[in-house]
Amino acid sequence: METENLQTFQQQVADLLLRHRSVLDVSSKFQESNSRVNRALMKSVTECGCIRIQAARQPFTEGTPLEETNLDSHLSGLLCDHCLEVVKTEMGKNLFYLAAMCNLLEIRLDEVVKEESEKLSTLGVFNMR
Ligand SMILES: [Zn+2]
Repeated sequence: METENLQTFQQQVADLLLRHRSVLDVSSKFQESNSRVNRALMKSVTECGCIRIQAARQPFTEGTPLEETNLDSHLSGLLCDHCLEVVKTEMGKNLFYLAAMCNLLEIRLDEVVKEESEKLSTLGVFNMR
C-alpha cells in the first residue's frame, strides 16, 4: 500500500468530516460500518447465494506447527460482481471511519499500517489474533 495514498485518503476524510466532531459519533459510526461489512457478506450467502459458508472444527493436531496446518476458510464460491461492489463499498466506509478516528486522535493511518506491517514481517504466523 502506498503511504501517499493513505495520507491523501486521511486528508480527504479530514476535509469532509467537520472538525471537532465528537469521538462518540465517530466511534459508533466506525462500529456500525464494521457491522455493515459483515451484514453485506451474510447477505451474499443468504440472499444472493454466490458464496456459501460451511464450517467445521479446524484440523489442529497437537505437535503440528500452525504454519503446517491446513486451515479451512469455511467459505466456498466467489462474490458475484454485485455483492463484491456492495462489500467493497461497506469496507470503504469502514476505512473512512477508521481514518476519522485517526484524525481525532492525531494518529497517522500510514504509520499504523507501516507498524503493523513491520510486526507481521517479524512475527509471522504467530501474530494471528
Ligand atoms: Zn452475490
